[in-house]
Amino acid sequence: MRGLTFHGVGDVRVDDVDEPTVLAPGDAVVRVTLAGICGSDLHAYQAGDVFGFLPGIRLGHEFIGTVEAVGGDVRRVRPGDRVLAAVLAACGRCAHCAEGLPSSCPSRSSFGWAPRAWRSEGEIQGAQSEMMRVPFADATLDPMPEALAGPEHEASLLPVVDVLSTAWHGLRRAGVKAGDAVVVIGDGAVGLSAVHGASALDAAPIVSLGHHPDRLAVAERLGATATVSSRDADEIREGVLELTGGMGAHVVIDTVASQTSMETAFACVRAGGTIATMGMEHFKAGTLSVNWVDQYLRNVTITGGYVPGKRYFPELLPLVEAGRLEPSPLLTHRLPLDDAPDAYRMMAERVDGVIKVAVAP
Ligand SMILES: [Zn+2]
Ligand SMILES: [Zn+2]
Repeated sequence: MRGLTFHGVGDVRVDDVDEPTVLAPGDAVVRVTLAGICGSDLHAYQAGDVFGFLPGIRLGHEFIGTVEAVGGDVRRVRPGDRVLAAVLAACGRCAHCAEGLPSSCPSRSSFGWAPRAWRSEGEIQGAQSEMMRVPFADATLDPMPEALAGPEHEASLLPVVDVLSTAWHGLRRAGVKAGDAVVVIGDGAVGLSAVHGASALDAAPIVSLGHHPDRLAVAERLGATATVSSRDADEIREGVLELTGGMGAHVVIDTVASQTSMETAFACVRAGGTIATMGMEHFKAGTLSVNWVDQYLRNVTITGGYVPGKRYFPELLPLVEAGRLEPSPLLTHRLPLDDAPDAYRMMAERVDGVIKVAVAP
């Protein structure tokens, strides 16, 4: 079969690779029908050496598809079922899984990540491939709602797997409720998802901060009530204060997580407010400094964290089915799997009009 393989920084290719098989009784093999390219795949593409990627690793962790085969212990899905997969495989039985944090499961493996993130037996390969082996299938796959199982709904479902779940995790961790002023830093797919999720939670105003006019236009389409495009922290702060009655935001969702974005978050958050960091730039920086004096004096809560697998699928899927969430504008391009290296280039170079590219095997 064909699979998108990491060969080195800036070098990914679609190669002939071995087809996965059921290795353990809890496994499923899924035929991938659509796989997303994520901002975190770009981290691998641009700095895979830092993250421990080795040549031969296949990338991708956002996928939907059809179950092809299951092991003897799998109960919740059957061959032929249309499914969404979590971005990680976790046991579903340990204390962390029971507490809704499969991302901290001691048996957790992240799809399409470096081998040090494989804790299940065997290879845990990436989803930009024709087929995927999925460990702990009962805890890792959810059947699609029947009304959304057709191919015409794939562009609305794929964002649920990661970017919308990640954004929703930030919104939930920050306790966003109706009427809250929300500022979202970053106009990538997670930032736009946070804007969209905040609008489904009836937050207002919702202010999108970014640097790309085409993406800020999508932010408005997905629920932003205002956008601010500036690299100057004072200017951003003034803009946000003006939009929030001089108070600042109840919640800032920082989808970048760099030193600059953290400082912007503090500039925008009101006293007693919450900052949720949902980005990954700090992986590259190693550490960020936080203004703890400001945090203390103004009672700012800092939260955020790694998406807890498919924990939010049961909340998000009914909202998609009801049309309250319609995230398909995030998927701006769909290419055949064989063109995946071009898709990486388009995303890495931030070609105008490109937000997220999905590949169809
Ligand atoms: Zn992702
Ligand atoms: Zn577990």
